[in-house]
Amino acid sequence: MASQWRNWARDQACRPAAIETPGSRAELVEVLERAASAGLPVRASASGHSFTDVALTDGVMVRCDRLGRILAVDRASGLVKVEAGIVLGDLNRRLDELGLAFENLGDIDRQTLAGAISTGTHGTGARFRSISAQVEAVDLVLADGSSLEISAMGDRAALDAARIGLGALGLIYAVTVRTVPAYTIERVDSPRPLAEALARLDELDHGSDHFELYVFPHTEVALCRESRRTDDPPRPRSPARVYAQEVILENWAGGLLVEAGLRLPALTPRLARLAAAVTGRSTTIDRSFRVFASDRRIRFTEMEYAIGREHAAEAVRRVLEVAARPEHRVAFPIEVRFAAADELMLSGAHGRDTCYVSVHQDRRLDWEPYFRAVEAIMDSYEGRPHWGKRHFQAAATLAPRYPRWDEFAAVRDRLDPGRRFTNAYIKRVLG
Ligand SMILES: Cc1cc2nc3c(=O)[nH]c(=O)nc-3n(C[C@H](O)[C@H](O)[C@H](O)COP(=O)(O)OP(=O)(O)OC[C@H]3O[C@@H](n4cnc5c(N)ncnc54)[C@H](O)[C@@H]3O)c2cc1C
Repeated sequence: MASQWRNWARDQACRPAAIETPGSRAELVEVLERAASAGLPVRASASGHSFTDVALTDGVMVRCDRLGRILAVDRASGLVKVEAGIVLGDLNRRLDELGLAFENLGDIDRQTLAGAISTGTHGTGARFRSISAQVEAVDLVLADGSSLEISAMGDRAALDAARIGLGALGLIYAVTVRTVPAYTIERVDSPRPLAEALARLDELDHGSDHFELYVFPHTEVALCRESRRTDDPPRPRSPARVYAQEVILENWAGGLLVEAGLRLPALTPRLARLAAAVTGRSTTIDRSFRVFASDRRIRFTEMEYAIGREHAAEAVRRVLEVAARPEHRVAFPIEVRFAAADELMLSGAHGRDTCYVSVHQDRRLDWEPYFRAVEAIMDSYEGRPHWGKRHFQAAATLAPRYPRWDEFAAVRDRLDPGRRFTNAYIKRVLG
C-alpha cells in the first residue's frame, strides 16, 4: 500500500496500492505491464487540481512529474510536442523563450498539460476555445502496453475523444499543441453596476478578446475583466506589485470575507458590499501567459457548468438569487466566462458558443445544498459540468447532453476494452 494522495483542495483522498513515477515512454509501458499482471486498475494523477474524484484510485496511481521534456518544436507551424507531465507554468515560460504561446489559457498555471486537457480546462474569450481544442495530436500508451499516436490525419474520432478523455482511454505520454506567436495582453479590471454589466453582456464579451465577469452576491456590483491583445511593450508587474494585487487584495481580502462568513454569517452581505465598494480599476500589460495566470491561495471547492451563450444573463441572475439565500452563506463571487463552440466529444462547448458559470464555496461549509440548487438551474439549460469540478450527474443524465456521446463510448471500447483505466468517478459518469 502506498502513502495517501490528496488533491489541491484537500477534500479528495485515496490510498493507492502503488504509486509509480515513470520517466520515459518505456517506463510507462513497464508500469502498465506490471498493473496488468497484478490485475489492478490504473489512474494517472497530475497536479491534483480537480475538485472531483476523477483522479482517485485504489489501484496503481501513475504520476508523470518526470515526464516534462519538450520533444519537438516547429516554429513555422507553431506545433510543439511535449511530454504529458509538464506543468503549464513551466511550458509557458519555455514557449515564450521560443517566441510562442498558447492562444488561450485558464486562470492558473499549476496544472499539467495532460491533466488540464483531460478534463477540458478552458479560459475565456468568445472567439477562442479550450486548451484541449488547441491539441493536434496525443500519444497514448494503452492497457496492453502498445503505443498509439493519434492525430487528425490518422484517426479523427479518437483525437476528438482523447483531447478530453478523462484519463479513461490510456495513459497520455505526449501531447502536440498548436501554439501561436507570443503576444502581449492589456487587461483592464473595472467595477460596473451589475444591471448594466448583465444588460450589456454581448457587447462587453465581443468588445474584448478575453472577457470575464465576477459577480458578487449581496451586492449590485460586477467586476469586468477585459483583456485585449496589444502591440504595446509588456510592462511586467514587479513581484511586490503582484503580491500586493493578487495575494493581499484578492486572496487575503477574499480570505477575510470567507472567514467572516464562517464565523459571523449575518455580516457577509454587509462585508461583501464594503469589499465591492472599495474594488478599484486596475490595468496590467504583460505577456499573455503572465496575465492569464493568477495566484490562488485560498483553498475552496467549486462547481462549473457550460451552457449555451444565449442563456448567460438570465442564468447569472438566477444563480445570484440562490447565492443570496442566507442559508448558503456565500462569500465567493460567481465567475462568468465564454468560449467559442468546438467539436470535441466530451466538451462543454461542443457545438454551441458557450458561457461558463462557476460557483465556489469554502470547503468547511456545507457546499452541497448550494451547488445542488445551482445545478438545478444549469439542468434547465442542458448544462454540461466541468469534468474536474463538482457535480452530481451520472451517465444517464449526461448522455443526452453530448451529441457525440456514443462515439466516445465506441472509441473507449476500442482503446480500453478491458476497462483498465477506470475508477468510481469514471463508472459513474461514463457508465
Ligand atoms: C485553483 C484552481 C483554478 C482552476 N482554474 C481553472 C480554469 O481557469 N479553467 C478550467 O477549465 N479549470 C480550472 N481548474 C480545474 C483544473 O484545470 C482541472 O481540474 C484540471 O484537470 C487539473 O489538472 P491537473 O494537472 O491538476 O490534473 P488532475 O486533477 O490531477 O487530473 C485530472 C485528470 O487528468 C488525468 N490525467 C492526468 N495526467 C494524465 C496522463 N498522463 N494520462 C492520462 N490521464 C491523465 C487524470 O487521470 C484525471 O482524470 C482550476 C482548478 C483549481 C484548483
